[in-house]
Amino acid sequence: MPKRFSKKVAIITGSSFGIGRETALLFAKEGAKVTVTGRNEERLEGTKKALIDAGIPESNYLIVPADITTSAGQDSLISETLNKFGKINILVNNAGASLPDAQKKFGIDQGVDTYEKVMKLNVQSVIEMTQKVRPHLAKSKGDIVNVSSIVALNFGWARTPYYPLAKAALDQYTRSAAIDLIAEGIRVNTVNPGIVQTGFHESATGTSSDVSQKFYDDMGSNSHAIPVGFSGRPTHIAKAIAFLADRDSSEYIIGQNIIADGGTSLVLGLHAQFPKPTVN
Ligand code: NDP
Repeated sequence: MPKRFSKKVAIITGSSFGIGRETALLFAKEGAKVTVTGRNEERLEGTKKALIDAGIPESNYLIVPADITTSAGQDSLISETLNKFGKINILVNNAGASLPDAQKKFGIDQGVDTYEKVMKLNVQSVIEMTQKVRPHLAKSKGDIVNVSSIVALNFGWARTPYYPLAKAALDQYTRSAAIDLIAEGIRVNTVNPGIVQTGFHESATGTSSDVSQKFYDDMGSNSHAIPVGFSGRPTHIAKAIAFLADRDSSEYIIGQNIIADGGTSLVLGLHAQFPKPTVN
């Protein structure tokens, strides 16, 4: 039986680590030719090693070091993919982060420079990649999956306001783009993860990996935070991305958000503060 992504070429941004690395690995194991990218050469080597360890031949992956917020980075990603693989079927706009404020401020005191950096990475780069890859996806009747977040949902997130703002904008952009692009046969959707054990917490807070691991462990053991009882792993999100990127599985899903959060968004707010029920 053919693998579900055989004959497909996928660009996965932010695939040097975390959710993106796992997604590249899953897609490659399922037959895709994948373009792996990020800025950090050491991390890119890590993804390359994971692909080699999984038995993926060199002919099926391409590593392109690039800053996704730059025009030159976006252009080299696309041109090198076309040079090696000849087409593009899937674009996963996964690169993203909650960037710390340069002045170490929180809440609405965070500077406009932080706002601009966060928007450039989480929203503008997605808009630019979508525009640039569009003609290739129109040709292949391809699919876009954007990686958003549950922070985009309808509740306040006071400590770092610009990251939720950016992800909410990304969800809205996804809906607009989905309407426009389905006319050309291109589907656009998002996966919105909750807490997932990656480099995210470390880069957002500037803390060590030990402190981040404790954060993920504490969250995972708190059913008021994550009802399923554990912090997510990149594979949980990679599987949801693969579902939306695979037309056979999700052909009729257009411009939607799939929330993959272990139940977190069900218990946010007042509900989470209720005392546990006692048995009489
Ligand atoms: P990681 O920090 O583990 O990975 C982030 C990836 O994005 C890395 O590969 C990093 O590559 C890349 N990246 C960041 N900035 C740039 C840039 N300017 N140019 C190119 N690549 C860049 O985090 P996650 O895997 O968790 O994050 C993936 C996505 O998931 C993000 O969009 C994030 O917002 C979202 N998300 C994550 C959650 C979580 O709890 N982990 C929850 C909700 C959403 P490099 O360092 O090599 O540049």
